[in-house]
Amino acid sequence: MSNNMKIEANTVASVHYTGTLPESGEVFDSSEGRDPLSFLVGHNQMIPGFEANLMGCGIGERKEFTLTADEAYGQRDDEAVMQIERANFAQLEQEAALEVGMQLVAQMPHGPAPFTITALTDDTVTADFNHALAGESLTFAVEVVDVREASAEELAHGHAHGPGGHHH
Ligand code: ZN
Repeated sequence: MSNNMKIEANTVASVHYTGTLPESGEVFDSSEGRDPLSFLVGHNQMIPGFEANLMGCGIGERKEFTLTADEAYGQRDDEAVMQIERANFAQLEQEAALEVGMQLVAQMPHGPAPFTITALTDDTVTADFNHALAGESLTFAVEVVDVREASAEELAHGHAHGPGGHHH
């Protein structure tokens, strides 16, 4: 499975990657030990800077780059931190104790919205809906393992199929 294709819009790229926080070196995500990540290029599947840095790369190329928060998950938004009455969590609390740092998913009209509990009182839960990596610069070490043309079906769906992509 080798060819001379380069990563560009409407190709499917498969990559191994390790993401670290540049200051601490802490690994926040990695494909090590898993299938490579496959994504349809140019369809907003990835954070913008990740794709931009891989444009024109071919199979076997390795690249390391650091993204600003704006190129990654964006800046933190103070308005995405909300106080919710603890009574709303009564049903959940019958099954699990609430803790600061816990990650939960709220069912909102537009779909699921993950949040992190950042403070707790007897009456209120402080829920931070910012992405856990908002406001952070991120360093990625990436190896391109495959590049191929997207199928008509993938283009219609807006995502990659197969190993490391979507399964229907
Ligand atoms: Zn699909």
